[in-house]
Amino acid sequence: MIEEVHLRVHLGAPIIPGEGAAGLRLGHKLADYVDRNGDQFRAEKPKPESCHARNSRVLRSDHVTVYTNGEIITQVSIHSGYRGSVRDRLRLEDAVGRVATELGCVGEDDEDNLVCASMAGMCFEIPASLFVSAGLIPYSRAWLDRIRDGRICEIFVFTARCDCGSDLRNRPDHVHCPGCGRTVFEALDL
Ligand SMILES: [Zn+2]
Repeated sequence: MIEEVHLRVHLGAPIIPGEGAAGLRLGHKLADYVDRNGDQFRAEKPKPESCHARNSRVLRSDHVTVYTNGEIITQVSIHSGYRGSVRDRLRLEDAVGRVATELGCVGEDDEDNLVCASMAGMCFEIPASLFVSAGLIPYSRAWLDRIRDGRICEIFVFTARCDCGSDLRNRPDHVHCPGCGRTVFEALDL
């Protein structure tokens, strides 16, 4: 089932880890952004076998994807053509190595997403082919070099909260969750 929704978004708005992007704020109602003059989004119900909550939806445009649970925005991703930045320091198409230089240590979270240690509530994607092509051994020097040079093609912003409920924002080091002690960050030697 697909329906169309028009949302007021700003493709030059700052990307704020744990808070929002494109002018959309996590935790706010989708209805707050509905605007007949806004960008066109296609709303999809996740497939029944999906792990997403039953009442969650994904709304996609060419530049922004919005994830909701009920009426509430839970995650925003920005991709092709988005112009905004993280703290004026990081944009789409920048290399992963630049994240490490500009924003701090890069590693993986417990779901193998690329994340920055000092920025809970944000992960970034590079083309999937970089992880698997050329037969490189994962975590070898050559593999790490390939990841370091990979260009960011999508950035996700989500609530910086552990499954245990602990807030992971504004911590200088969120290697371990302060609530349950779970490892939420493992550095990559880029
Ligand atoms: Zn926890």
